[in-house]
Amino acid sequence: MNKPTFLLATGNQHKKFELQQILDGVLLKTPEEIGVDFDCEETGSTFLENSILKARTLFELTGQPVIADDSGLCVDGLGGAPGIFSARYGSPADGPDLDSPERNRYLLQNMNHLDGPEARKATFVCCMTAILDEYRVYTVQETMDGYITDKPYGQGGFGYDPVFFLAEHNKTVAELSDREKNTISHRGRAAAALGMLLKWRDN
Ligand code: IMP
Repeated sequence: MNKPTFLLATGNQHKKFELQQILDGVLLKTPEEIGVDFDCEETGSTFLENSILKARTLFELTGQPVIADDSGLCVDGLGGAPGIFSARYGSPADGPDLDSPERNRYLLQNMNHLDGPEARKATFVCCMTAILDEYRVYTVQETMDGYITDKPYGQGGFGYDPVFFLAEHNKTVAELSDREKNTISHRGRAAAALGMLLKWRDN
């Protein structure tokens, strides 16, 4: 039987790769892969609002089933920053985007003044929305808790993974295999929950 196709509201191939491994009951395609030019200004003030906004924008553009996620890193000692601004944290408003190592350096610099492990506590958040048709919408939000290190470790994953330490594994997320990360990550957990919802009823 053919798997139902969902458009994934992202241009980030790494995200698609991570999600496709978990959402094995559906076929994910990016808008680019079907020739759709998708760009959505993330004007919401929460992960929830942005995830729904991205999903709705792509659904209205294509009329096809879609999945969108909005994710980011929230650091306790920085009052929850960078939060919904994680993707462009530290980049000048109209200048070039920092690459991940530059962005991680910027984060660590901003945390220099923080004292003690409590302030270095952090949470990755992922809100994921599926729109199946005009009236059927599922949204889930999940987390992964850890601590921000004092320098980067590991080569895997992407983004803030090298500075996000998991005490129970004694490793940063960048030192986990893709499979290990998917089992415990905010995105992995959200996708697993969404996968159950998508299986719950015949699509
Ligand atoms: P989004 O595409 O608006 O969801 O941006 C999320 C941003 O948060 C990414 O560009 C990364 O900087 C960060 N982020 C989200 N999830 C992860 C993760 O699993 N590992 C590392 N960084 C992440």
